[in-house]
Amino acid sequence: MKAFETVLDSGWFIMGNHLSTFEKQFAEYCDAKHCIGVANGLDALILIIEAYKELGLMKNGDEIIVPSNTYIASILAISKAGLTPVLCEPNINDYLIDPTLIEACITSKTKAILPVHLYGKMCNMDAINSLAKKYNLKVIEDCAQSQGAIYNGKKSGNAADASGFSFYPGKNLGALGDAGAVTTNDTDLAEIIKALRNYGSHKKYENLYQGVNSRLDEVQAAILSVKLASLDSDNQKRRSIAKYYIDNLKNEKIILPSTIQQDIINDNSHVWHVFVLRTSDRVAFQNHLTLQGVQTVIHYPIPPHKQPAYSFLNKNSYPISELIHNQIISIPISPVITEEECNIVCKAVNSY
Ligand SMILES: *Cc1c(COP(=O)(O)O)cnc(C)c1O
Repeated sequence: MKAFETVLDSGWFIMGNHLSTFEKQFAEYCDAKHCIGVANGLDALILIIEAYKELGLMKNGDEIIVPSNTYIASILAISKAGLTPVLCEPNINDYLIDPTLIEACITSKTKAILPVHLYGKMCNMDAINSLAKKYNLKVIEDCAQSQGAIYNGKKSGNAADASGFSFYPGKNLGALGDAGAVTTNDTDLAEIIKALRNYGSHKKYENLYQGVNSRLDEVQAAILSVKLASLDSDNQKRRSIAKYYIDNLKNEKIILPSTIQQDIINDNSHVWHVFVLRTSDRVAFQNHLTLQGVQTVIHYPIPPHKQPAYSFLNKNSYPISELIHNQIISIPISPVITEEECNIVCKAVNSY
């Protein structure tokens, strides 16, 4: 309320001190040199690609490799920027892009790999970054679900050439509406994105690029600064709920998230944006949970290559992705869920 009133009383609502403060705080939080606030996560990814085009490193028709089981926005960003998404299958164990399958997707047109830290778990960035180095590709991380995650000492937002964040209200760090950001250590890229989000202009009424209006407003920036302070403790609460579920969910018909590193509480590479189970008869399982008063969501029911929006991909076959989309179901997880509520969820799952 105090943050909101401060903005209201200031009478300054776009591109002010609250935005520059949040950008500084979030860059620092991610160990990145630059943070540029934008209007949402989709724009963050689009503007990264657009900026690479302005730098002459990418052009229309070039290809970017992206996981076949991601949220549609990762793929939309590529096609909206005029490039072609090339879908790569995930690993069935962790549902993340499988680095061993990326090489086969590389062609003479490939310019980047766009790994998605889906469900809050960071991808194998060592393998992805070394592959990118070998083929001279950029790596663009989709960090929309992984705010605060750390892979091998690298923060999500500092584990690639450029990183796109969403602060949609339901994300681990959420605003009170739409918001997003780009982080990067590339100063040239950052300068172009700063202009692109504001009509392509560094200086009022002077336009260097054909930009867009994709700014992060002062109210959202001020709220994000308040909430950033508790992101780590919120993520820690999510980890303890995940541990509770993994310790207490016992049903042979249910596949739990793979936790190769069994120490869930100390595994910083996962911030448990959602808790995803897998089962062969999802409809019956979902009905059972609904009757027990447990709400579930499917992230996501239709794979991108089966969407009418991507008819040129409809005939392609991605069997691992299709299996995942047919079997996954998410049970409640959030920093505000109580142990009592977790217990209700466990009883409901175990009695199926
Ligand atoms: C939420 C999300 C986005 C898009 O973010 P918006 O702020 O809704 O535009 C992109 N990628 C992934 C993986 C997401 O979960």
